[in-house]
Amino acid sequence: MQHLAEPSQVAAWSAAAREQGLRIGFVPTMGALHEGHRSLVRRLRPQVDRLVLSIYVNPLQFAPHEDFGAYPRDPTGDAAICEAEGCDLLFQPPELYPPDFRTRIQVPTLDQTLCSVSRPHFFTGVATAVFRLLQIVQPHIACFGEKDYQQLAIIRRMVADLGLPVHIDGGPIIREPDGLALSSRNAYLSPAQRARATSLSRALRAMQAAAHTGERQVAALREIGLHALDVDAVDYLEVVNPHTLQPVQAVHGECRVAVAARIGTTRLIDNAPLGEPT
Ligand code: AMP
Repeated sequence: MQHLAEPSQVAAWSAAAREQGLRIGFVPTMGALHEGHRSLVRRLRPQVDRLVLSIYVNPLQFAPHEDFGAYPRDPTGDAAICEAEGCDLLFQPPELYPPDFRTRIQVPTLDQTLCSVSRPHFFTGVATAVFRLLQIVQPHIACFGEKDYQQLAIIRRMVADLGLPVHIDGGPIIREPDGLALSSRNAYLSPAQRARATSLSRALRAMQAAAHTGERQVAALREIGLHALDVDAVDYLEVVNPHTLQPVQAVHGECRVAVAARIGTTRLIDNAPLGEPT
């Protein structure tokens, strides 16, 4: 496995692979790699000739009061995981943007709902960084987790709107045996908080079960979910259209239920399908 830090070197690596007719797959991450990230690598590996994983903790997507400085970092463990999963290139840019970089990518209205309410600049930062990464790595296919469902919807929309020549693939959420969705931020939780964190997936499952037995009204489903949550604050618990991410009042066809909640100072998110596909 090669390690590269300079965007220009990665662009040249990628151009050389493309000239040989090789198919390039890409998994962008912020590091502190876990089974969720590994699942995306495993998903792409058989589909491509060259696999790139990037690690970049993107300052544009953190507000000044958020955890940019404290975000978990484990360069040695990450490199070992990439090697073990058969990545061809680990791209770790110290910086993605030229000095005095001004450009921002916005994807209204997908970036004005759910997580954007409490983190208004977050998805502008994500979309801008992912655009830049796609431009450098020039992959044929890039894989993102459904764990960050709103992010996946926004990237898909950006790629379609701007006609970027890449296929965006979504990988399923990887969970601990007790249901907690894997996240680098789970490392912030104390054992007692970790136990309460399972209530996010429990709430989603309770809502799925109620929808399955015929409850269609979102107000009633939300009550069931809120009752199951054992958290310090609920940022949102919403049932939305899976494409537009706009809230729905009743479940008809397949919707998405998404939750964000705080336990102590740690903010956790999760989501699940709700209702049957038509
Ligand atoms: P992050 O390092 O948190 O920015 O995540 C990098 C990629 O891994 C994103 O596409 C995430 O959606 C994905 N990811 C993170 N956690 C999980 C998980 N538990 N299951 C599946 N994908 C995940």
